[in-house]
Formats: sequence, C-alpha cells, structure tokens
Amino acid sequence: MTAVLVLNADLGPLHRVTLRHAVRMLLREVAVVHESEPDRLIGVYPMPKVVRLVSYVVTRWRFGNGPAWSRAGVHARDGRRCGYCGKDATTIDHILPRSRGGRNTWKNTVAACTVCNQRKGDRTPAEAGMVLRIQPSVPTWHALAQR
Ligand SMILES: [Zn+2]
Repeated sequence: MTAVLVLNADLGPLHRVTLRHAVRMLLREVAVVHESEPDRLIGVYPMPKVVRLVSYVVTRWRFGNGPAWSRAGVHARDGRRCGYCGKDATTIDHILPRSRGGRNTWKNTVAACTVCNQRKGDRTPAEAGMVLRIQPSVPTWHALAQR
C-alpha cells in the first residue's frame, strides 16, 4: 500500500499513513491534499502523496503525556469493546473506582459494557475477580485518528 506523508498544519512532517487512512482523513476533513500524483484520482480527490492537517497538532503529545483523556478517546482506543468480556462497550470503567480516588486517566480507564461495569461496581478488578483483556495505555494521536 502506498504510504502518504502527513504534514502538520505548519508543514512540519509528522508521520506516514496508508493511502486508505489518508483518504479517511480527507473524508473527515481533518486534512487536505498538499501534493498529489499527477492525473490520478481516488474518488473525488487527487491521489495524495502528501496531506496536510487542517489544524495544528501539538507534537509534544507524541513525546509527552499523549492526547488529553476523553471518554470518546477511551472507546476509540479500545475499539468500543468491553475491556472485560469483549462485548459492545457503552460505558467507561474506572479500574480504581472514582469513589476510591481513581482518576480520569488513560491507564485507569477502559471501555466496558454495562453488565461488567455494574458487576465490578466499587471494586478493583482483582477484588471483583475480573480479568482485563487489555493493558490500558496512553494512545498516540495517530491511533486515535485511525478510528
Ligand atoms: Zn463486559
């Protein structure tokens, strides 16, 4: 698959993505075609060689603490699957419950279905005898953009 270079809004190179991913970015209007293959189209777009982000992405994210935490981001990171049973997730579970000081951080939250979330309740996974299928981590901006 052809790799497409992604430029930040200030034209600083960020990374390469697949052509399919680049087209998705165009469709979502987060990027525009910066440089294209001559005389080739993909759908309504010129075949991109380089795309440019519409809004500036703070690149220290890539080296620092990662993107800001959000519920939508947790669902995107976990593929909208429950971190315990793998079924469709509609809620966010705090691994260390909020009532016990657990915070809204990438590593303390997983997508969860309502059944698992209620079953776990005010306990840690260990206390509830539940096993996490995933190791929650800080997603890269790139990983979030792919969803
Ligand atoms: Zn579940």
